[in-house]
Amino acid sequence: MTFTPHGKHLIAGEWVSTDAVFASEPAHGPAHDFSVGNVDLVERACTAAEDAFWSFGYSIRADRSAFLNAIADEIDARGDAITQIGSQETGLPEARLIGERGRTTGQLRLFASHISAGDYLDRRFDAALPDRAPLPRPDLRMIQRPIGPVAVFGASNFPLAFSTAGGDTAAALAAGCPVVVKGHSAHPGTGEIVAEAIHAAIQKCGLHGGVFSLIQGGKRDVGTALVQHPLIKAVGFTGSLAGGRALFDLCAQRPEPIPFFGELGSVNPMFILPNAGSNRGTDIAAGWAASLTMGAGQFCTNPGIAVVLADQADEFAAAAAQALEPTGAQTMLTDGIAAAYRDGRDRVAAGAGVRDVLTTTCDLRNATPYLFRVSGADWIDNHVLAEEVFGPLGLIVTVDSVDEMDAIARSLVGQLTCTIHMDDADATDARRLLPVLERKAGRVLANGFPTGVEVSDTMVHGGPYPASTNFGATSVGTLSIRRFLRPVCYQNIPADVLPDDLV
Ligand code: NAP
Repeated sequence: MTFTPHGKHLIAGEWVSTDAVFASEPAHGPAHDFSVGNVDLVERACTAAEDAFWSFGYSIRADRSAFLNAIADEIDARGDAITQIGSQETGLPEARLIGERGRTTGQLRLFASHISAGDYLDRRFDAALPDRAPLPRPDLRMIQRPIGPVAVFGASNFPLAFSTAGGDTAAALAAGCPVVVKGHSAHPGTGEIVAEAIHAAIQKCGLHGGVFSLIQGGKRDVGTALVQHPLIKAVGFTGSLAGGRALFDLCAQRPEPIPFFGELGSVNPMFILPNAGSNRGTDIAAGWAASLTMGAGQFCTNPGIAVVLADQADEFAAAAAQALEPTGAQTMLTDGIAAAYRDGRDRVAAGAGVRDVLTTTCDLRNATPYLFRVSGADWIDNHVLAEEVFGPLGLIVTVDSVDEMDAIARSLVGQLTCTIHMDDADATDARRLLPVLERKAGRVLANGFPTGVEVSDTMVHGGPYPASTNFGATSVGTLSIRRFLRPVCYQNIPADVLPDDLV
């Protein structure tokens, strides 16, 4: 099955276009024209989303659960076509896209069963105490309610699982919030076919068309207008620190500020404790190389930094370089991301005290791995070295002691993940680092690599700024629904007036 995009926006159940077009920039295959989004489309989508909220926001959980399952089914039905256009647009291998599709439909089905169970409502009851002195207590009930229309910005590197019907959209729809997606310009055709699946599910379930709209990009004013629209009540964003920060600031400056849940970049440091480094440093280095180059290093959880004892660093660096070298060139998501990777590489290479370990050559839309080395003192002195380079670049930070590892850990800004590699004999040092690392990251791991993010009840994908703009939240896993809910207390409301979920 081949898919040829028509290039339109989906606004409240209608496919519409504007006069201007932009051309997609596929990694391979034909380019297609897409209608450029504009402020008028933002207005239409947001107004329709607010209209839809009055039915969708008050729908019963069984109906929303059926809707989420229907979206997953419609995505499955278009599986081959999604893989075909997704692979053409992003250059990601078909196997990766098939896996990501499974994750996307899995998330939708997980949310379907999660809302059916109802625990997310966090229902609380304080029974009336009419005889309490000096004052009686009224009947009090609390429940989580949906917040209203939500804007979603997908990421370039997860065209399915963090995009049109990705985690943010699934969580918002599960909560009862209509969604307006700003399509990512790196994969507009993939966005279109997934929007088609959501549209089919809306029709099958008889829902208001305003429950979901997709506005293709092409110009930055779409995103700007969307986060500033007064009917939008929260934003889910996955992308770069620069883009996320710009949109976050706009949300804060609104007459009615709204929460901006930005999942941004991270360097995801790994700390190789002394015994683990001495007993199996070369194995850890080889595992690191595999994690670093997975998907051309285009993961927000890519472990860009390894902190290693100086007397173990030569062996560790040699093993990592040996494992990285055969990787060769990998296609990046866009020309711009490839150019930004080379800029990041040059920035690191120019850092004071930075030494080359593995240099390769990459150009155009390709990335090849790079490996550098720097002392802990130079790393701490140079903030640029603590910034994410989006791509397969590793930096080994050498330290003289666990005290210096601790100093590095304390100097970190917020991270999505931090990793400890430890043997049993490292437990004392690990106990020392853990309280520091848990203040820095949303997820702390031992003896693994952070690039796989499980979609589950316990997952936290977030962290203190700049890993995310809201450290109390996660964008992956069932807890992510809380971003699009707010608690409401009902005091003395008669049972036949209360929301069904509270009775
Ligand atoms: P991006 O360039 O920030 O783009 C994300 C979206 O925001 C796009 O729709 C983009 O529009 C829009 N945008 C960016 N800047 C904007 C601005 N100033 N005004 C209005 N709209 C703006 O990010 P990306 O290239 O897609 O993704 C790569 C980055 O995402 C990496 O840093 C990576 O670490 C991070 N990431 C984080 C996570 C996570 O969960 N924390 C997951 C994946 C990726 P256009 O389409 O018009 O460019």
